[in-house]
Amino acid sequence: MLVFKTKSELIEYLKPSIPQENIGFVPTMGALHKGHISLVEKAKKENEIVVVSIFVNPTQFNNSSDLVNYPKTLDNDLKMLEEANCDCVFVPSVEEMYEQNINSETFEFDGLENEMEGKFRPGHFDGVGTIVRRLFEIVNPTNAYFGEKDFQQLQIIKKMVAKTSLEVNVIGCSIFREKDGLAMSSRNMRLTEAQRKASPFIYETLQKAKKLFSEEKRNDICEWVENQFKTQSELELEYFIIAEEESLKEIKTGSDSVKPRAFIAVFAGEIRLIDNISLI
Ligand code: AMP
Repeated sequence: MLVFKTKSELIEYLKPSIPQENIGFVPTMGALHKGHISLVEKAKKENEIVVVSIFVNPTQFNNSSDLVNYPKTLDNDLKMLEEANCDCVFVPSVEEMYEQNINSETFEFDGLENEMEGKFRPGHFDGVGTIVRRLFEIVNPTNAYFGEKDFQQLQIIKKMVAKTSLEVNVIGCSIFREKDGLAMSSRNMRLTEAQRKASPFIYETLQKAKKLFSEEKRNDICEWVENQFKTQSELELEYFIIAEEESLKEIKTGSDSVKPRAFIAVFAGEIRLIDNISLI
C-alpha cells in the first residue's frame, strides 16, 4: 500500500491508470472504524484501484473544540487500510490542500444545504463541498463512496456532481452499526462509559419511530421522540426530523409519493452524534 502526502505524487501515481482502470475513492477524516472499512471493501470489489484519503478538513468544523479534539489515529488507520487491501492512501497536510487560504468556497446545493445539519452547523457544507471537489479533481475517481450515516452529505455530493462537470459516480453505502445498534462513528471513541452505554437509545428510538410511522401523525411522532429523550440524563436531543430523501424537506403530512426518512442529532455531553433511518 502506498502512502502519499502531496497532490503531485498522487496525480503522478494515478496518471497511467486513467482512463483504462476504474478508480474507487473513499474520502475520510481518519480515526477509521469498520464503517469506513465497509466502504473500502465495496470500493475494492468494484474498482481496479482504491484510493482512501485521510484529512481532517478544518473548514467543515463549525465548532473549534470539535476540530481540536477530533481523534487522530493514523498508525492504526494505515494498518486497517493495509488489511483491507487498499492500494493507496492520501494524507495531505492542511497547507497542501489550502495553501495559505484556509477558507471555504460558497456553494449552492438547491437548498439541500439549508436543512438539518445546515441549520445547526453553519458553513459545514461549504467546507465539505470545498474539500470534496478538490479531492475529486486530484483523484479523478470513477466511483466515490459515501456513507448513508451522513445522508445529507451524500445527497449534497450527488447534487454537487450533477451541477458541475465532474464525472464521478457517487455511491451511497449503508450504515454500519455496533452490535447494540449505535451507528459507528469516529466520535464514539470520545464517549464516556456512561455516554456509550446510553447511546444505543438513539437507534432504538429511530426504530420505534419507524414502527409508529404508519399509524401516527408526523407531529405526534416528533413529540413522542422529544419526550423519550427527556427521560435520558446522558443524551440531549438537538433535532428529530422526518424529511423527504431527495429534497430533505421536512414532511408535515402523509403522502405516498415521497421517500420518508427520519434524521436525528443528539448530544452526549459535547459529543454530537447523528443517525437516520428509512421509514419505508
Ligand atoms: P468521516 O471520516 O466521518 O468523514 O467519514 C468518511 C466516510 O465514511 C463518510 O462518507 C461517512 O458517511 C462514512 N461513514 C462514517 N461512519 C459510517 C458508518 N457507521 N457506516 C457507513 N459509513 C460511514
